[in-house]
Amino acid sequence: MRVITPQQLLQRALDNPESPAGAMRITEFLTALPAIGEGKRDRILADLEISPVKRLGGLGARQRTALAQWLDTRFPQPVARAGRSRLVVLAGPTAVGKGTVAAHIRDHHPDILLSVSATTRSPRPGEVHGEHYYFVDDAEFDRLVADGELLEYATVHNRYRYGTPKAPIEKALAEGRTVLLEIDLQGARQVRAAAPDATLVFLLPPSWDELVQRLVGRGTEDAEERARRLKTAKGELASQGEFDYRVVNDEVARAAGEVAALAR
Ligand code: 5GP
Repeated sequence: MRVITPQQLLQRALDNPESPAGAMRITEFLTALPAIGEGKRDRILADLEISPVKRLGGLGARQRTALAQWLDTRFPQPVARAGRSRLVVLAGPTAVGKGTVAAHIRDHHPDILLSVSATTRSPRPGEVHGEHYYFVDDAEFDRLVADGELLEYATVHNRYRYGTPKAPIEKALAEGRTVLLEIDLQGARQVRAAAPDATLVFLLPPSWDELVQRLVGRGTEDAEERARRLKTAKGELASQGEFDYRVVNDEVARAAGEVAALAR
């Protein structure tokens, strides 16, 4: 029999709630883990705010995140995973702080190449062409797509197009370097399809409340916009099961260090 990790079992349940894993009761799941009896189990369920009658496949977005985080703390996943390439994708929900973590890796882990994307949006103050992005117009973006020069591309937030240039990545990988892509979920899925051995890392907020704060905390949006953003975030969090690793962005330097360690 092949042994699977609790995280993999949870992922199976979430991917397919109709499967045997999906139908498993949360109580059964927890007591099957090493060193967890009924008393401990009930305390964990109370902490994670999960009802004991829940089945794994029926957990809400917030409960999934809480359970996944608890599992990662209790049963750390192996640092090196056989068969994974040095192409690492960092994705996660809007406002989780991917950009900050990626910039920290660029500045503190110079052996890892942070890919520079092409985008049709205009530079913000301080952004440098070729360093933060390649700022291109629509015609040039069309050309990059037509000539097959992008590994993946997507329209983000229904506005501008962003894409990952293929050539610098192929060169760096051929030299044995690690390459990090900080891209959105649509892009991460395309990389998975184009390069199945890529390592996909999902950045999580420390808690759902924290993400809500980051998304709507400024209080500048109306109720409808806030509801829209929260709904998007729930959908985004639900895709974490597609990823090889989850890293909690509780503190930028720590999270960046963990991603860098996974990348090597
Ligand atoms: P920003 O415009 O704030 O720099 O980035 C907006 C979003 O675009 C972020 O979520 C970022 O992850 C995503 N993004 C940046 N570059 C790429 C890319 O090359 N491909 C894809 N799919 N998304 C990208």
